[in-house]
Amino acid sequence: MRTRRWPFARSIKGDLLAGTAFFVVALGTVLVGGTHSALGTLLREEMQKRGTAIGALAANASREMLLNADTYALHQILVDLQAQNEDVAYIYLLSANGKVAAHSFLNGFPRGLAALRAGLEPRATLHIRTPERGAIREISVPVLDGELGSLQVGMSEERLRERLSRLVFIWVLAAAALLIVKLIAGFWLTLRFSNRVDGLIGKVERIGRGDDGPPADESGSDEISSLAKAFNRTSTQLRETRRDLIHAGKLAAVGELASGVAHEINNTLNTIGVCAQALQERAENPALRAAAGFEDFPEYLGAIREEIERCRKITANLLDFARQDAPERRRVDLNDLARGAVPLSALHLGTKEEAIALKLARDPLPVRGDPSQLHQAIVNLYLNALDSSPPGERVVVSSRRVNGNAVISVQDRGPGVAPEHAERIFDPFFTTKPAGKGTGLGLSICRRIAQSHGGTISMANHPAGGAVFEMTLPVDVEPGG
Ligand code: ADP
Repeated sequence: MRTRRWPFARSIKGDLLAGTAFFVVALGTVLVGGTHSALGTLLREEMQKRGTAIGALAANASREMLLNADTYALHQILVDLQAQNEDVAYIYLLSANGKVAAHSFLNGFPRGLAALRAGLEPRATLHIRTPERGAIREISVPVLDGELGSLQVGMSEERLRERLSRLVFIWVLAAAALLIVKLIAGFWLTLRFSNRVDGLIGKVERIGRGDDGPPADESGSDEISSLAKAFNRTSTQLRETRRDLIHAGKLAAVGELASGVAHEINNTLNTIGVCAQALQERAENPALRAAAGFEDFPEYLGAIREEIERCRKITANLLDFARQDAPERRRVDLNDLARGAVPLSALHLGTKEEAIALKLARDPLPVRGDPSQLHQAIVNLYLNALDSSPPGERVVVSSRRVNGNAVISVQDRGPGVAPEHAERIFDPFFTTKPAGKGTGLGLSICRRIAQSHGGTISMANHPAGGAVFEMTLPVDVEPGG
């Protein structure tokens, strides 16, 4: 379905700017038009009132003279009244039969006016336009309830118009100033808003290209700041998910290769091992040992068997790493796993169990998972920590419950992880240990185990020195199973 777009709707910025301009112009027009008409009505009413008041004054003052037929005095009063009121163009008295009895004109009653009056009712009013005073509106005021005729007061509209225009001009000026301020504020706000939205769009495009760059500007507390915050949160999650995916992809590819190689090497190692063992047994024969040049055989064969054992450990590690078994799901106490991993780790490195200090949570920390996989992950962490610790320093293992998660933390007093290695230590085959000592698989196995249990693993260097590895797993809330 095609949607109709109005001509400015190319962007929110365009819409807002056009909307503000339209609003300002429309409001200005309505304000000026409305004010003009309201002021006009007001001043016309005012003129009517003033004309009526002047007429009533004249009617009161002239009653005596009318009764006495003192036309001269009457004329004088009307001339005075007109002179005192700038808005009054003229005043004349119409007798009950429609004749002009007295007036304020100094040079006689104008002929034109007399002609206009000629066919009219006695009290009818005129609305005329004169070359000297412009538009004039007559107001008729009866004298003695009309028995003595009426006073016709000609009010000049020109002055009224002037005053009206002045008022409208001042009002328009004020309204225009306000509207210009509104327009500038509207433009400024719109540009500010659109610049911030443009910033977010730029950030989205950068993320699309895989280039994260600096986070979006979160300053302020308005909706755009909330959007920027939500956006930064999402982009961090996206970055982590992308890293996890790359890691998982690497693991899968390397795992496939490793398991094939490890199988082949294992078979060969088994054969070499069996042969070496058989030769070593035969070499114990005193007759053979007496033969010249044979005295080193048992020692060399022992060395061959030791090396085979080391190779077996490496291939076992590789097979462990490649194993993609679905983990068993059982309720198990993380504290029990932490305790259970101590003897094996100590044995592995030929150290005392006391080298690991346990500071576990008092309450059990039930998690749901595969006990042997979790045990393997914890042993790996202990081995690394013991390996990094200077002699005499203990590894501290603690556990706690944090927001529905069980956390086990392994802290050592070693050198910690160099910042440039921190991103890579969970990658398969990343090792800083000398050739033949490390496979670089331990942490990547730990990470895979944590993730397959719905958890995470992280590393931080302790401010007091040493590394702290933390594995976080969801607490199993349902008992049983
Ligand atoms: P490996 O132990 O065979 O090297 P891992 O995957 O277990 O493989 O560890 C990878 C790397 O992480 C190590 O070579 C080491 O550089 C670093 N690392 C692991 N644990 C620690 C630790 N406790 N302290 C310092 N560095 C560590």
